[in-house]
Amino acid sequence: MNQYLFTPGPVALSPEVSLAQAAPMIGHRGKAFSELFTRIEDKLALLLKSEGRTVIFPSAGTGALECLAANFIGPGVDVLSISCGVFGDRFREIAALYGANITAVDVPLGEGVTPALAAEAVRANPRCAVLLLTQNETSTAVLNPIREIIAALPEENRPLALVDGVSSVGAMPCYPQAWGIDGLATASQKGLLTPPGLGLVWISERGWKAAAERKCPNYYFDLIRQKKTLCKNAPENPYTPPVSLYFALETALDAILSHGDPENWFALRARASRAFAAGLEAMGYELLVKEKEFRSPGLTAFLLPGGDTCAVSKALKAMGIDPAGGQAELKGKIIRMAHYGDFNWPEISLALGSLYAAMGDSRGRAGNFIAEAFGVWMEG
Ligand SMILES: *Cc1c(COP(=O)(O)O)cnc(C)c1O
Repeated sequence: MNQYLFTPGPVALSPEVSLAQAAPMIGHRGKAFSELFTRIEDKLALLLKSEGRTVIFPSAGTGALECLAANFIGPGVDVLSISCGVFGDRFREIAALYGANITAVDVPLGEGVTPALAAEAVRANPRCAVLLLTQNETSTAVLNPIREIIAALPEENRPLALVDGVSSVGAMPCYPQAWGIDGLATASQKGLLTPPGLGLVWISERGWKAAAERKCPNYYFDLIRQKKTLCKNAPENPYTPPVSLYFALETALDAILSHGDPENWFALRARASRAFAAGLEAMGYELLVKEKEFRSPGLTAFLLPGGDTCAVSKALKAMGIDPAGGQAELKGKIIRMAHYGDFNWPEISLALGSLYAAMGDSRGRAGNFIAEAFGVWMEG
């Protein structure tokens, strides 16, 4: 039976991306690799609509977050961390480990960060040198309006804006240069539609200057050391890169950019997300994120009010559909389904039909034609 992977990372791969990894190995100190690396950099610049090179590490998304902390945060640095879920908390925890003085602002789960809240928090903490934000909070399926948040910050002594874009880049607009992001961290296995294993970091001009004055010792994640090899005429990684993943990443970027302006692909994701949400609500599921403008185009979090959300999740798994559950306080309370890749009408109807069938016992089966069919199927 086919298994359908709807977890928010890793995401299902296209056959082209899967196959790309099987290409013959090339040396990472040769011309072919430099050319591949340059093409990837150029494609990332188109996706991010930003100049400058992106540093690519063999690492998880958490490694990319740690890279930002290692280069911009040291003992005694005043950091303002605005979190609306598990991943905002993680970024804060990493910053704390690097010795930051943290001012924590928490937004209730399922709600987003408003520009007014962020501006007020920065005004109230004029000493803060670094602001930590999450663009797409994957634990609650909240999309935060990063562009508007940064635009609302006071001009004077504006803190460095470090953004966790692990689950946003590739699936929704994220234009760090135009938006005033100073450090952006992302990873290969979500919106970039590539297998797990690559952490990516984009840095603003102001960020590069700050990184050059860094105080915290670090070797592997040292951005200045990375920049030296990245900005050679024939770019390289300082250490051995996972070359096969670079093949896959280039293929995935080609697929996203084949739609022309990245906005076109992002619009398709948003459309699928809206249609999926409409179907869920029509069936009686409740979305965790009440305000539409904060709903993520990359994934949806929902529950079955008055029903057993865990049982729905179990039923889905029995059908060969792999969703994700809640994390931390939301464990056992919500279902999360990602729609980063080719999640179009066939996939929407597959997901909705299965969710309808999975409601089965809690709603009564009368009129539930998909549940009827599923019941017969399960009889063997
Ligand atoms: C997945 C995710 C991470 C962590 O990524 P890993 O690759 O698992 O380390 C961090 N932040 C956000 C927003 C994520 O969705």
